[in-house]
Amino acid sequence: MVARAAVVGWPIAHSLSPTLHRYWINQYHIQDASYEAIAIQPGTFKQRILRLRDQGFRGVNVTIPFKEEAFALADKTDSAAQFSGAANLIFFSQGDIIGRNTDIPGIQDSLMQSLGSAALGGRNIVLLGAGGAARAVAYALQALKVARISILNRHRNRADELVADITRYGGDSELRTGTLLDWPDAARDAWLVVNATSAGMTGHPPLEIDIRFLAADARVCDIVYNPLMTPLLREAAARGHKIIDGLGMLMHQAAPSFQVFFYKEMQGKMPEVTAALRTALIEALRARG
Ligand code: NAP
Repeated sequence: MVARAAVVGWPIAHSLSPTLHRYWINQYHIQDASYEAIAIQPGTFKQRILRLRDQGFRGVNVTIPFKEEAFALADKTDSAAQFSGAANLIFFSQGDIIGRNTDIPGIQDSLMQSLGSAALGGRNIVLLGAGGAARAVAYALQALKVARISILNRHRNRADELVADITRYGGDSELRTGTLLDWPDAARDAWLVVNATSAGMTGHPPLEIDIRFLAADARVCDIVYNPLMTPLLREAAARGHKIIDGLGMLMHQAAPSFQVFFYKEMQGKMPEVTAALRTALIEALRARG
């Protein structure tokens, strides 16, 4: 029987998940496996997921706009999904629908791979944004035991709500909130800044911040990956900052999904995030123009 998995969303043509998972299927020589991109019309999510289960799919990755519906549909969820109120992975196990959120380990592993596993402890971080992805980043940074997270968002109330939620999960990091007007103050002693807003994405205006407020050795991470070199990263690179692009998070958030979908074939092992995989994704992005 074919081992089937997919990514579902609306629209779905833009998703890089098929490129990622098919790369690993080939790399690990998994026979009789498929990973598809399936568009689901809003309003039909639950019935389509149940049908995919009946058709023998092992599970699906879930993207915009269904992550919250996926969380609500799941019988069991992990703490990352509970914190986010969103699941980007659902799979079927012994009659249950299991929901997980892999964005949190995704950004954690990406930062650790780029900056060193113990590098973030005790640092001051500026997090831009307070949407779904910023939630994952805030949770991850807190788990990495950073000293302070300054969460700046256009609408400050969302940053305040995020802090209220994250506080319930404990952790020792100092949490501050503000708007983008607070950037100059927050930037001055930032060891790392993470953009988790959608500003700078293709079709969106760039982020309106002046990166000259950052110290020369501050690191700049942008989780937006389309384009890969966002205006923020381009400017940061030109000023000599170390930069971390959004492909790291994308690859690392996919790995635990692949491990779940093809657990038997992988004998429980996690697929590797390698430079060759990154090259394959960059080529896929280029092919889209
Ligand atoms: P979201 O929930 O819609 O949140 C959007 C965020 O961006 C909000 O904080 C919003 O501020 C802010 N924002 C939008 N336009 C802005 C502008 N012009 N200036 C300043 N702030 C602006 O979106 P999301 O799901 O968090 O996704 C955010 C980005 O992360 C997307 O580009 C997505 O592709 C990317 N992402 C990447 C990965 C990865 O694996 N690399 C994973 C997940 C998401 P307000 O709250 O004030 O409106």
